[in-house]
Amino acid sequence: MTATVALSPSPVVQKPTSIVTPRIIKGSTTDDLSNLSRILAVKDTSVIGLCFVWECRVVPPKQPTFYLCESCSLTISVNDICDHMRSTKHHSKYLIRQYPQFMYWAEEELIPRMSDVLTDYIADLVKGREDSMDAQTVLLSEECFEWVRTAPFAEALNVVQRIKEEKKRTDLPLIVTPEGEFKPPLDTPRTHAGILICI
Ligand SMILES: [Zn+2]
Repeated sequence: MTATVALSPSPVVQKPTSIVTPRIIKGSTTDDLSNLSRILAVKDTSVIGLCFVWECRVVPPKQPTFYLCESCSLTISVNDICDHMRSTKHHSKYLIRQYPQFMYWAEEELIPRMSDVLTDYIADLVKGREDSMDAQTVLLSEECFEWVRTAPFAEALNVVQRIKEEKKRTDLPLIVTPEGEFKPPLDTPRTHAGILICI
């Protein structure tokens, strides 16, 4: 969005009706039950690693939700997330990260089938510990939503993590911060400014 600045003086002096401070609107988080938990419950599917999944929703909800899986460093569509959470590949990545004591054999050269069976067996054992876990839900403005969806994973994750941290500090329903407080990564030449400066 561009601002229009009057360069020549106006013969009529008008009093401003309001003072609008440039602001950045990006997003917030919610403690509500994630849609992913509801979907998985309907499908009667137990999964592991849910608390390292970010559910990214747009406000207002004009586009499909997507997910960031920290364990696998992947951005995943709503259509693929259930299969992903059930996959041996996801189980393996999550277990190696969170339960390395159970995955000491992962460096061994096992035949793939044996490795998969072992991984899924351990995942079954771990599931019982994680029944109360939920995905972390983040509510994003339209511009920020599109940026996070298309950003390299590490940058997308960094943004949602920072939104969560700011939510903890401010506890606002939708974070509005003075311009300049939030900066996108400097080494990414994409159109960050249009995402973050909404007013
Ligand atoms: Zn994953």
